[in-house]
Amino acid sequence: KKEITRLPPWLKTPIPDSSSYKKIKNDLRGLNLHTVCEEARCPNISDCWGGSSKSAATATIMLMGDTCTRGCRFCSVKTSKAPPPLDPHEPEHTAEALSRWGLGYVVLTSVDRDDLADGGAHHFAETVRKIKSKAPAMLVECLTGDYAGDLEMVKLVATSGLDVYAHNVETVEALTSQVRDRRATFRQSLSVLKAAKEAKPGLITKTSIMLGLGETEEQVWAAMRELRAIDVDVVTFGQYMRPTKRHMPVHEYVTPAVFEQWRVRALEMGFLYVASGPLVRSSYKAGEAFIENVLK
Ligand code: SF4
Ligand code: SF4
Repeated sequence: KKEITRLPPWLKTPIPDSSSYKKIKNDLRGLNLHTVCEEARCPNISDCWGGSSKSAATATIMLMGDTCTRGCRFCSVKTSKAPPPLDPHEPEHTAEALSRWGLGYVVLTSVDRDDLADGGAHHFAETVRKIKSKAPAMLVECLTGDYAGDLEMVKLVATSGLDVYAHNVETVEALTSQVRDRRATFRQSLSVLKAAKEAKPGLITKTSIMLGLGETEEQVWAAMRELRAIDVDVVTFGQYMRPTKRHMPVHEYVTPAVFEQWRVRALEMGFLYVASGPLVRSSYKAGEAFIENVLK
C-alpha cells in the first residue's frame, strides 16, 4: 500500500512560544515533573497550559516511569518486561509540585505496568488523594490502562477522589488487534469504563478514538453506540500521527470538516462534550471543557 508522507496544511503548526507558555515552562523546571505535553512535544501546549484562565489551565503528568510493559503499534513510549520499580515518594512529590504550580486541571496518566500485581492502581489512587489534600480545588482526571481487566483496580482508582475517569479505546473494535498491544481488547476497555461509572455514580467517564487508521464510518458509529450504551460522557477524536517509521503508517489524513461532522454527530448522540479535530489529544483543553460543561 502506498504510504502517505506529506502532511496536509492543517497539521503544520508553529512551535509554541507564547509568554505564558514560557513562564509555565520555567516554573516547571524546579518542580521535577514529567509532562506528556513537553515530552511528546504536543502542539497544543500553549492552548492547554495557557488556558482561558489559570483555573482552566491543563497539563498531563506521566506517573510510574517512562517504560511500558506493553507495545502498542501507534505509541513511541519505550517497552520492557521489567521496568524499574515505582518511586514510593512519587505521589507525595507530584502533589507537592502540582500544588505549588497552581494549575486548575491535571490529567494523570501512566505507562501500563503489567509487571505489578495491582498494575499500579494503589499508586495512582494515592497520588489523587495527596493532590486533593494539598490542593482541594484542583480538578483531577486519571487516564488509566485497563488493569488487564481487573475491575477491582478500576474501582479503587475511580473512588480515590478524582473528577474524571478516562480510559482510551484508541480505535474501533475491528482495528484494535492491529493497533493496540495484543493484551488490550475493545471489550475489556468497555468493561473498564463501565466499572468506573458503576463504582461512583455520577462520575464523568471519558474515552478517545484516533482517526486515520483505516476505520470505516460505520465502525466509528458502532463504537460510539457502544460507548453511549455504557454511559460514557465524553469522547474525543484526533488524527493518528505516526511517531516513527517503525510504527504503523497513517492510512489517511482526515479533514477538519470530517472531524467537525463527528463532533456534531457525537453531541447529537448525547455525549456531554466532545473534542474533535486533527490535533486534538484526549487531554486537549480538558480543564476548559470541564468548567464549561460540567460545573455550569
Ligand atoms: Fe498536554 Fe494533553 Fe494539552 Fe497536549 S493535549 S498540551 S498532552 S494536556
Ligand atoms: Fe503506549 Fe499506553 Fe500502549 Fe504502553 S499501553 S505502549 S504507554 S499506548
